[in-house]
Amino acid sequence: MILIIGAGLAGLSTAYHLQGRPCRVVEKEKEAGGLCRSYQMDGFTFDMTGHLLHFRQQAIRALVEGLLAGQLQQHSRRSYIYSYKTYTEYPYQVNTYGLPPEVVRECLMGFIATLTAPPSTLKPEERSFKQWILESLGEGFAKHFMVPFNEKLWQVSLDELTSDWVSWLVPKPELKDVVNGALGVKDKAFGYNPSFLYPAQGGIGVLPKAFLSGIGDIVYGSELMEVDTTRRRATFQDGRVESYETLVSTMPVPELIRRCTDLPKPIREAAGGLRCASVYNINLGVAREHVSDKHWIYFPERDYPFYRAGFPMNFSPTLGPPGCSSLYVEISHQPEQTVSPATLIAQVRDGLGRAGIFRPADEIVVADVKDIRYAYVLFDRHRARALPAILSELESRGIHSIGRYGRWEHTSMEDAIAQGKQLAEKLRAA
Ligand SMILES: Cc1cc2nc3c(=O)[nH]c(=O)nc-3n(C[C@H](O)[C@H](O)[C@H](O)COP(=O)(O)OP(=O)(O)OC[C@H]3O[C@@H](n4cnc5c(N)ncnc54)[C@H](O)[C@@H]3O)c2cc1C
Repeated sequence: MILIIGAGLAGLSTAYHLQGRPCRVVEKEKEAGGLCRSYQMDGFTFDMTGHLLHFRQQAIRALVEGLLAGQLQQHSRRSYIYSYKTYTEYPYQVNTYGLPPEVVRECLMGFIATLTAPPSTLKPEERSFKQWILESLGEGFAKHFMVPFNEKLWQVSLDELTSDWVSWLVPKPELKDVVNGALGVKDKAFGYNPSFLYPAQGGIGVLPKAFLSGIGDIVYGSELMEVDTTRRRATFQDGRVESYETLVSTMPVPELIRRCTDLPKPIREAAGGLRCASVYNINLGVAREHVSDKHWIYFPERDYPFYRAGFPMNFSPTLGPPGCSSLYVEISHQPEQTVSPATLIAQVRDGLGRAGIFRPADEIVVADVKDIRYAYVLFDRHRARALPAILSELESRGIHSIGRYGRWEHTSMEDAIAQGKQLAEKLRAA
């Protein structure tokens, strides 16, 4: 029997693609979806922060378009950076027109200096994220956007992070594009997500639900507590004990390792050193329509506690009552740090007011805070050294750890689905 831990997209996709081979999915929550869930509150539908579909793999796009036939809408991205009391279109690097002239000058001069600097001799995993930013984009872009924004998001110095994950997320532009951007000339779309798909109704949670009809055996409300990897036995909080031939785990890998009773000490210690940033997701409903015309906005400046705010009703108007707006706001924090929901909501209201998005008379009709404990995996030097040994030790014991937190990586919904599909195909062929 193949036992799958977690009914997020990675676990669901694995079960779906096993195509009837004996398997059981066990999920600790009362419903499927993991981070890709939606929930209703007082007439609003919220996701666990913004979850937009960007595809790079045609096979996964076709799968999702088939599962959600007729339900998806395509949108051209309207995302901006708010700084110096100005909106700069994303990506910042090619859109600096409109920022204070001194800022534009520093960005341009810094970028030009990178073009004549000698190329780095370090391997990506040895080069820090900060070095990568300085060498690829230059001092101006580093100072005015990349460093303050990323330090707010990752909650650590960028000297501590490696750069092996950045290239697909942070596009390196050509000089012509940077100059055009400084002059306000637009001739092409940039970035990893110039357009995105999103369900017309119901929020992103309709996607995991669409997998369910292809999956026979799911147990909800049952948390994996202990794994005896030698006897291949898993024990759950509700008392159930499952024997398995193969275990597919999509739970965070440090949690899995903590719950395996018989792993070597160096592996347990290596997993204990894996770090992540957590995110407070503050979801708001406001009694005024169109509080913003944008899809989402990045906030690099320290004056604002949040790093991003999005406006779901601008890409799916049915997510709230007519005459209202909804927002998701994201504040990163160290996992061990806690702030009360009331304080977070007050900080968000104040910050959005100072940014000119909220007006003093705006009535917040719904406010809800979710704490996403595992949000952004830190790509530090310890991860680069420790992770391959952890994953191969697990594989040697019949455990495949997959998904965003199973592989301890910075990946998307598409990647979670692709990993589940790939693993199921391998297990079917075995
Ligand atoms: C702030 C933020 C914004 C994001 N925005 C986007 C976006 O716009 N677009 C995009 O494509 N991706 C986005 N992502 C990434 C996306 O959410 C993930 O890639 C994807 O949902 C991961 O799916 P998964 O199945 O790997 O993990 P998860 O969704 O975490 O699923 C793991 C499942 O395991 C269950 N579980 C955990 N422990 C146990 C246990 N002990 N026993 C039983 N079950 C357990 C959990 O409850 C969960 O259901 C975002 C992520 C974050 C943090």
